[in-house]
Amino acid sequence: MRDESRWVMMNRRQFLITSLAGSLVAATNMLRFPGPVYAASGFDLPQLPYPQDALAPHISERQIGFHYGKHHRAYIEKLNELLKGTKLEKARLEDVIKTSAGFPDMVGLFNNAAQAWNHTFYWKCMRPGGGGKPISKLAKMIQASFGNFNNFREEFTKAAATLFGSGWAWLVENGGGLEVVQTSNADNPLIYGQKPLLTIDVWEHAYYLDYQNARKDYIAAFLDHLVNWEFVAKNLSKA
Ligand code: FE
Repeated sequence: MRDESRWVMMNRRQFLITSLAGSLVAATNMLRFPGPVYAASGFDLPQLPYPQDALAPHISERQIGFHYGKHHRAYIEKLNELLKGTKLEKARLEDVIKTSAGFPDMVGLFNNAAQAWNHTFYWKCMRPGGGGKPISKLAKMIQASFGNFNNFREEFTKAAATLFGSGWAWLVENGGGLEVVQTSNADNPLIYGQKPLLTIDVWEHAYYLDYQNARKDYIAAFLDHLVNWEFVAKNLSKA
C-alpha cells in the first residue's frame, strides 16, 4: 500500500459510509458544479477555454498541445472504450467517478473518468493574465481559513511541491471552510464529499516540456500569472 496520501488508504467500507453520509450534499453540489457538457453517448474532449498558445510564456503552446491534445484526449478515449456496453455507458461523468471509486475491479474506469474530469477542471482554473489575489467573498473565506492570502499561497505551494509522484493539489470547500488537499494519481476530492474550487496538475506531463524538473517554478507561474480566480469564486457554494 502506498503511504503518500491518507486518501489512498480509504478502504471500500469507509468509502461506502462516506458516500452514504455525503450523498445529499454531493447531489446538491453536482447540480451546482460547472462541469463539462458531454455527448449522451460517449464523452467528448471538451474545448479548451482559450487558444493553445494563450497561456504562454508561462505554459507553452507545445506543452498544452501534448497535455491537452494527447494526454487528456487519451483519458477520454480510454474512458469511452471501458464504458462501452456497460451499465454506466450513459451515466454522467461524476456518477461514473463516484460509482467506480474504491473498487479494485473498476480501477481503470475510475482512473480514466477522474482524469477526464480533473483535466477539464484544471483548464478552467487558468486564464491568460490570471494569478495574483482573489477579491470579495473568496478573499474573505481564504482569510478566515488560512489567516491571510500568503499563508494560503504557502500551503498550496507546499502541497503541490511535496506531492510524491503524480497527482494534484486542490483548494476545496469542506464543511463551510476552505482547505488545501493533495490527491495521488487520478483521485478527486468529490469522492470524499469535498467541493473542488481550484486545482493544479502536478503530474510531470503537465510541466516537464517547459520546466523539466523545476516543479516549484511551474507552481509559482501558475499562482502568479494563471489562476482564474473568477472561476474559483464561481465554484463556491451559494449558501
Ligand atoms: Fe495532466
